[in-house]
Amino acid sequence: MLEVRQLGKTYRGGIEALAGINLSVPAGMFGLLGPNGAGKSTLMRILAAIQAPDIGSIAFDGIDVLADPAALRRRLGYLPQYFGAYPHASCRTMLRHMAVLKGLPDDTATSRRIDDLLDLTNLADHAGRPVTQFSGGMRQRFGIAQALLNDPALLILDEPTAGLDPEERIRLYNLLSQLSGERVVLLSTHIVDDIEQLCSQVAILNRGRVVAVGATAVLLEELDGRVWESTEPVGADSAAQHLSTAYRRGVPVHRYSADRRPGEGFAPVAASLEDRYFLELQRTVPC
Ligand code: ADP
Repeated sequence: MLEVRQLGKTYRGGIEALAGINLSVPAGMFGLLGPNGAGKSTLMRILAAIQAPDIGSIAFDGIDVLADPAALRRRLGYLPQYFGAYPHASCRTMLRHMAVLKGLPDDTATSRRIDDLLDLTNLADHAGRPVTQFSGGMRQRFGIAQALLNDPALLILDEPTAGLDPEERIRLYNLLSQLSGERVVLLSTHIVDDIEQLCSQVAILNRGRVVAVGATAVLLEELDGRVWESTEPVGADSAAQHLSTAYRRGVPVHRYSADRRPGEGFAPVAASLEDRYFLELQRTVPC
């Protein structure tokens, strides 16, 4: 269990990136969802003990993370949003190098671990190629392999599907869903679909605050019977709250939240996480 209490971070220039974050993250896949600038990367870097907060506390399985970051790092795997690779080093050499940096012995057990991770991430056939020549999806799978070297109890993945094509994204989803088990896996993204596919628990972040948190299914249940759809927008005097307008096969589809049917032509629809997300962003960001 990862416990975050009253975490605050203000950057130079007065940008309040985190404004008192409280989170309890159990084992399994936990999604951190929020628009660009919400504070996700700042939170991830602080949880990975790369950056210090101004205030607050973080505990992971009995470790006081801010007092003993080295103890956390031994149990942590981290996939940052951007990571570099040496231009000429092969994938296998990079993994060996990173294993040594993580304090693993340079022995046959570590070699076996690297082989297992290359198999898991479907990179065994490319182990001799430089990571800098990999496709986006392969790079992300390499990033996950390096994050798993020390068999971490806490795995932090910052925007793991950014820039991937649909096939690579599905492959990464399949890989990620094999990984959680007893681990705490924290995945940050602004892509609602990533969370809906992968995470049983989610927190929605906006402007440095947690604006909704809980089981993904429960966050949707709370909107049951309150989401309506129509190809025509509501009138200007309607109390219905606009959630989104998206085109479906060229036709605009307007979605609203309302306790009662907003008007003729509206049909009730099952709530999606995207509906909940837009509702929460509107609650906290005046239009
Ligand atoms: P997200 O990952 O959700 O996009 P970030 O944590 O990157 O959010 O950013 C949160 C806020 O903090 C943004 O307003 C961003 O511009 C600002 N910010 C992030 N990093 C820095 C930094 N190193 N210096 C100053 N401001 C920063």
